[in-house]
Amino acid sequence: MNIKVVKFGGSSLADAEHFKQVASIVKADPSRRYVVASAPGKRFKEDVKVTDMFYECYEKIRNQENIDELYAKIVERYNSIIAGLGLDFDINGELEYVKSAMQHRSGRDFAASRGEYLNSLILAKYLKFDFIDAENVICFRDNGTLDEEKTNEMMREELMQHKHAVIPGFYGVMPNGTIKTFSRGGSDITGSIVARAVDADLYENWTDVSGFLMADPRIIDDPCPIKSISYRELRELSYMGATVLHEDAIFPVRYAKIPINIRNTNRPQDAGTMIVAEHTEIDSDRIITGIAGKKGFSVITIEKDMMNSEIGYGRKVLEVFEDNEISFEHLPSGIDNMSVVVASDALEGKRDKILATLNRAVHADSVSIEDGLALIAVVGVGMVKYRGAAARVFNAISNAGINIRMIDQGSSELSIIVGVEERDFNNALNAIYSEFVK
Ligand code: ASP
Repeated sequence: MNIKVVKFGGSSLADAEHFKQVASIVKADPSRRYVVASAPGKRFKEDVKVTDMFYECYEKIRNQENIDELYAKIVERYNSIIAGLGLDFDINGELEYVKSAMQHRSGRDFAASRGEYLNSLILAKYLKFDFIDAENVICFRDNGTLDEEKTNEMMREELMQHKHAVIPGFYGVMPNGTIKTFSRGGSDITGSIVARAVDADLYENWTDVSGFLMADPRIIDDPCPIKSISYRELRELSYMGATVLHEDAIFPVRYAKIPINIRNTNRPQDAGTMIVAEHTEIDSDRIITGIAGKKGFSVITIEKDMMNSEIGYGRKVLEVFEDNEISFEHLPSGIDNMSVVVASDALEGKRDKILATLNRAVHADSVSIEDGLALIAVVGVGMVKYRGAAARVFNAISNAGINIRMIDQGSSELSIIVGVEERDFNNALNAIYSEFVK
């Protein structure tokens, strides 16, 4: 029988009604055997995530403030879930223990991780699944990075002994026994680790949207959903700001070639988005998979006569950025000039130094910094096969009366990146979207 690993995000486990919905999803398919749970998320827009309340408790304790009132809200969140489910389960002893451990300085990550720990205890009870504490199966190294192989082995060994289990997301253990969390949104990573360990046929990631959209709905009116996207395309899009999944969640399942299905807990009838190793077929009507973009880039342009014939010029330029700990995004260049595109934030407090050191290092004829660049990535493996994809991107932008400031196309032809003035950003995105989709 095939095995599915299902991860539910915070909004899918925010209250008793959502727990019921989660249980009906899990029970609807007997292959959904391993469940990874987040902490209770927001129930409404102004609500506070339980993880954030735990972080606040930690800060208050550090500042020697009283946490009774705040902690009572956490107690109430869990107890209202239990009451709403009509569960015969007393979690107050656990809650007392957590409070006292925090007061005895058990650390910031310990505090943050308790959101998923407590929620998973309740979910395991409700589903009648076993509970496996992530601290016994997810291991970090001394330097704080995940020990993938050890984790995979321990997780696999443990899960083999359970037909059904709930595993809390977001945290694991350091070699010295203390709790360590992933970065925010890290339950996605736990789900991916579990899927790899049991060699799952599918990793279902249940959230509050029906998968990825082809573009940001705040900019494009009612964008189409993406049915299928490859891991590589997804990386290009998320790098440019499209988010639904924690970026690091891809790695554990990617090598095992396990597909991820992003699904909507509130609309289980929607197929969602499949993230796959390779597309099996490319829709000829849909040669692009998605468009994403970001504002806030700067271009540093270095000009020097005969630059192209000077060996080592590029290295010297890049060394200046390396010495200043600035990573560059793109490197468009001509025969006598080279431009380095960087996030404007990274230049803060370093502008004068960069200009001076560049001048000194490469004896440029001129060096300038221009801010206010927006980058747009048009992503799709389909573009490789179709003649004229790039021309269509550029035409669409220029027909909208927008000037293209920069073009970058990797040889993989997975994406075309264009740079435009920030004020043209929304119009350029709309122009490209209409060209390819509408
Ligand atoms: N609860 C954690 C957070 O809010 C982790 C997660 O939900 O994935 O970031």
